[in-house]
Amino acid sequence: MLYTLKDAGFEAYLVGGAVRDFLVGIEPKDFDIATNATPEEIEGLFRSCRLIGRRFRIAHVRFGREVIEVTTFRGPISDSHERDDGGRILSDNVYGTLEQDAFRRDFSANGLYYNIADFGIYDYVGGIKDVENRVLRMIGDVELRYREDPVRMLRALRISNKLNFTIDEESAKWIPQLAPLINEVPSARLFDEVLKMLMTTDAAKNYQSLVDSGLFAQMFPFTSEALKVAPEYEAFIQQAFTNTEERLSAGKTISPSFLFAVLLWPCAELRAKELMKKQGHPPVVAWQQASEEVMVKQYAHVAIPRRFSVPSKEMWMMQSRFMRMRGAAPKKLMTHPRFRASYDFILL
Ligand code: ATP
Ligand code: MG
Repeated sequence: MLYTLKDAGFEAYLVGGAVRDFLVGIEPKDFDIATNATPEEIEGLFRSCRLIGRRFRIAHVRFGREVIEVTTFRGPISDSHERDDGGRILSDNVYGTLEQDAFRRDFSANGLYYNIADFGIYDYVGGIKDVENRVLRMIGDVELRYREDPVRMLRALRISNKLNFTIDEESAKWIPQLAPLINEVPSARLFDEVLKMLMTTDAAKNYQSLVDSGLFAQMFPFTSEALKVAPEYEAFIQQAFTNTEERLSAGKTISPSFLFAVLLWPCAELRAKELMKKQGHPPVVAWQQASEEVMVKQYAHVAIPRRFSVPSKEMWMMQSRFMRMRGAAPKKLMTHPRFRASYDFILL
C-alpha cells in the first residue's frame, strides 16, 4: 500500500504504534499510514477503501485480513478550531505537512514515520530518544493536549503499561488533575477505550492505573462508591482480571458482557440487597430493578451497547437463581444460553 501511494506520486509513511512497536521489538497490533493524499485521492487508488469519520475523514483500506488506517497529514491546531468549554477539539479538517502532522500525534514514541523510499525514520519530536529510554512523553503543552482530547489520558496509561515504559513526570502529573474531563468524551468512544484497556493481557495493571489516577472513579462512579462501602469486592474484581489474563494467554476468548457484569456487580448487588431489605422485594424483583437501575445510570458515563448489557443483566439474574436452588433445579438452568458465562461468574 505504501508503494501504491508512492507510485501514484504521493508521500506515504508507516506511522505511530507500528513503528514504535518495531523499535521496541514487539509485534504491532495494527498498521497506520500517513500520507499527503486526500481521502478522495486514497479512495481513487484502492478498491477496498471505505471513508469513515465526519470531522476528519480517515480511509480504511482492507489489506488481506487487516484493515489499514490511512490518514491524510493533519495541519496545525489554530484558534479557529471549534472547542468545547474544557478545551476539547470539536472540528478538525485542515490538512498539513508531514512535520505538522508529527506535532498532532499524542506521544513522541507515536510520532515516528518510517519511509519506504530510503528506509529511514523521520523524527521531529524526539521519539527515538524516548523509545530508547523507554519513556512515554506527551508532545507539546501537556495540559493543553489532554484538554484537546481527554482520551489521551487513557492512552498514556494503556500504552505505558503495554510497553513497560514510564510516563514522563510532566505527562503523568496532569492526569489525576484532569481526570474529570474524561466525562466530556462521547460515551461510545469510552466504551471502546475501556475494552482496549480491560480486555487484554494487561487488564490487571491497567485497572490499577485507572484506579490510582482517579479515572476509574470518573468512568465507573457507582462501582467506585460501592467499593468504598464494601472494599471486599476489590478482591473479586482483581480475580476477574487475573482470570481474564489467563484466558487470553491460553488463547480463549472473553466477552464484554462478562467484563461489565464484573465491573458493575458491586453496585448491582448492594442495590439488590437494599431493595430486598428496605422495600421487602422478593429477590427476582429486587434484582430486576437493581440491574436495570445500575445499567441506566452507567450508560451516561460509558455506553454499553444493548447486545452486551442484556447478557450482563442475565448473568446477574442467574446468580441469584443459582443461589436459591436446591436439588435438580440447577440442571435445568444448564440449557440456558447464558449458562457458561454465568457459571464462570459464580465461580469467581
Ligand atoms: P496500539 O495500536 O498498540 O493500541 P497505537 O499508538 O498504534 O497503539 P492507534 O489507536 O492505533 O494507537 O493510533 C495510531 C496512531 O495515531 C498513534 O500511534 C498516534 O500517533 C495517533 N493517535 C491515535 N490516537 C490519538 C490521539 N487521541 N491523539 C493524537 N494522536 C493519536
Ligand atoms: Mg496502532
